[in-house]
Parts: sequence; C-alpha cells; structure tokens
Amino acid sequence: MNDLNQTLFDRAKTVIPGGVNSPVRAFKAVGGTPKFITHAKGAHFWDANKQRFIDYIGSWGPMILGHGDPRVLEAVQKAALEGFSFGAPTEREIELVEMLIRLTPSMEMVRLVSSGTEAAMSAIRLARGATGRQKLIKFEGCYHGHADALLVKAGSGLATFGNPTSAGVPPEVVKDTLVLEYNNLEQLKQTFELHGNEIACLMIEPIAGNMNFVRASIPFMALCRELCTKHQALLVFDEVMSGCRVALGSAQSVYRKSLPGFEPDMTVMGKVIGGGMPLAAFGGKRAVMEQLAPLGPVYQAGTLSGNPVATACGIATLKAISEPGFFDALALKTQELTLGLSQSAKRHGVDFSADCEGGMFGFFLLPELPKNYPEVMKSNGELFNRFFHGMLSKGIYFAPALYEAGFVSAAHSSADIQETLQAADSVFQSL
Ligand SMILES: *Cc1c(COP(=O)(O)O)cnc(C)c1O
Repeated sequence: MNDLNQTLFDRAKTVIPGGVNSPVRAFKAVGGTPKFITHAKGAHFWDANKQRFIDYIGSWGPMILGHGDPRVLEAVQKAALEGFSFGAPTEREIELVEMLIRLTPSMEMVRLVSSGTEAAMSAIRLARGATGRQKLIKFEGCYHGHADALLVKAGSGLATFGNPTSAGVPPEVVKDTLVLEYNNLEQLKQTFELHGNEIACLMIEPIAGNMNFVRASIPFMALCRELCTKHQALLVFDEVMSGCRVALGSAQSVYRKSLPGFEPDMTVMGKVIGGGMPLAAFGGKRAVMEQLAPLGPVYQAGTLSGNPVATACGIATLKAISEPGFFDALALKTQELTLGLSQSAKRHGVDFSADCEGGMFGFFLLPELPKNYPEVMKSNGELFNRFFHGMLSKGIYFAPALYEAGFVSAAHSSADIQETLQAADSVFQSL
C-alpha cells in the first residue's frame, strides 16, 4: 500500500527539522514512520492512510474530554467569532483564574501564559527574584519544558538521544541547577545541608509523567516540604501534566490525603487547563506573585497570554471535568486498562508493572514499578518497541517512547478499552 504517512514525512523532513515540531513526535525512540493525523473525534484519531487509532496520548495530556467535545467546541466557536486576540484584558481571563484558584487553593494568585515551558521558566525567575537566591533543585527524569536553566539531564524528548544536556546551553546558565535523584531522601538532605541558604526553589513533578509514570513517595514529598520550609526555599510543583489530570485538585490534592494540610508554595500548570489550546499558568502565594511586573521587579509578559479563544477552551474544559463523578468514572476506566494489561502480560509470562491516578497511567515491561529515572531506564527498549509497534499496527496508539506516560479520556468507552486489551493479549503472546 502507498503509505501516505511516509509521503508526508518525506515532504516534512525537507522543510521542518526532523519533519516534526517537537522531537518525540518523530518516532525516533521506537523507529518507523510517524502517523500524520488528519482529524479526531472522541477517543479516536485517523492518520493520512485513513487508519483509525484509539488515542492514549490525548495530545500528551490536554484532551481529557476526548476530541471534539461539543461543549468545548461551542465555547471555542463562540469565542472565535468574538475575536482572536486583543492584547488587552478580558473577563474570561478572570473567570479561568478564579476557577483555577477554586480547584487549587494553594494558589492565591495566578498568571496565565501560553506554554508549560513559559510557565516553568517564569516560575523559576519569580522564585529567584522573590528569594534573592540563585540555586534551584530539579530531579533527574522530571521535565519542566525547555528553558535553558532546566535543560540539565532533562527527561522526555532529550533522553531519546541519550544526551544529558542540550547543545547551546551555556554552562554558566545551568551551574546553579542542582540535579538530584527522584525519591532519594538522603541526597536531598545532604544537598540542603550544603546549600540550604542558597536555594531559591525546589521544582518537582509530584507525579512524574516524563519518565513514564513515577510517584514521589509520601516520605520523600514530606521531606521536600519540610526542608523547603526550614531553609525558606520555595517548593514549586510542576503540575503541567498532572494538573487537573490525576484529580480535579491536581496531584497536590492526592498528597493531601496522606499529608494533611500539604501545599506547595507555587504551582505550574498547563495541558488540561487549556483543553488543547496553547494555555498554561503559574500561581502561588499572594506575597510571591505580587513580585511580578507591573507590581514588582520580576519581569514577565506575553503577547498572546490569556488568549480569549484559549481561555474559552480552558473554561469549558474545567467546567466539564468539575461535574460530579467525572474523576471517579475516569479513574475506574484507567484502572480497567492498567489492570487488564497487567493480567494479560502475566498470562503470557511478560514482566510487567503498571500504575495510574485519575486519567493518567504508566506501564513498564519491568517486574516492579521503578522509583527513579535510572530504574525506568532499565526497561528493555527493544521489547517495548516491539510492543509499541504491535499495538500500533492494531490501531492502538500508545506514547512512542518508553519514558512517556499515557492518558485516558472521558470519551474512551468500555468497547475501546476491551479492544485495546484484546490487541494487547495477542501482542504480549507474540513477544
Ligand atoms: C509538557 C510539560 C511541560 C512543558 O509544557 P509545554 O507546553 O510543552 O511547553 C513542562 N512540565 C511538565 C511536567 C510537562 O509535562
């Protein structure tokens, strides 16, 4: 058959570096030709060959309602008719921010931006400006977008190339970024003992989705909070992926179940809160947020920040996921998937472990769940690639890299999950 994906990929490669506008889309980790998507509806999308796929990436998280939810479509269409962008404030920005603050009360004030990268970068600048300190802690395997200071042994796209840092990042820009091992309590204690009074912030994905799916343990999270408080460093949660995805109150609400009163000082959000439009946010305590321009000395700005069409999309999405029972139903469906995959792998003697929270999941071709990046990378890449391509050929689209999480949407039906499990059963058998 004439592979129209290949035709498009060849054409793309002549004018777009690697043929893609974000590296992981190129299928470099798994090999083969990326699918060029023509359209999507509900839990499905179609490629250039008109093959239908069950979509488990959901645009890497945002599409929590599935594609083309009528409530969101209506809001976006109405907003588009009213105007694309004004460069002046709108009521919709207030409405979205008020919703975010209601859902995530650790944020007293929020600023809207257009990408997770921008939000994380701005949060770091604000943390440094507000504390007057330079150093920041990040964890190996956590991804916070591609700002220079955060491209230190970054996970996700970069890990594909086995390259711990990006070319073009001057060493002096990352010299204040301390990269630690996720879930390593001892190393964290030592780092704070050595550098406590120089640390502006500790940035962490509380449930990491860029080294597949790895949770910060409860004791580790409690220690992060304790040490940040003790040394007056800001605890910054990067919930760009986990935000409004693992729970309506984001990952911080999940930790609050075990750690009463638990709160980060700042939160970075993106993905779901824009419902598939370019929208992200960062927020925190009033005293910190008021350090931002025009009130304070920390500069931050954006031509399209708080875009009226994007905010309409975000508001409609947040309204829909706030309906009673939404997350319970989503979590059950996600559990049905991970449990079914686990049972199927077991039947065929394949090492397998899986975890999930809300509408986000991860699975590993490993006998036990990994706790940090080096453990994730012990996965057998060749085996994963065979699994991935086996599933893909049966119309099941999982993330094309073993260090990426997966996503279930409200639009996934029981039939979709069953079709996925049937496909997995025959692929596991062939492994
Ligand atoms: C996706 C992601 C980012 C970057 O967001 P972009 O919108 O791609 O710039 C940052 N942090 C986390 C945890 C993410 O998952």
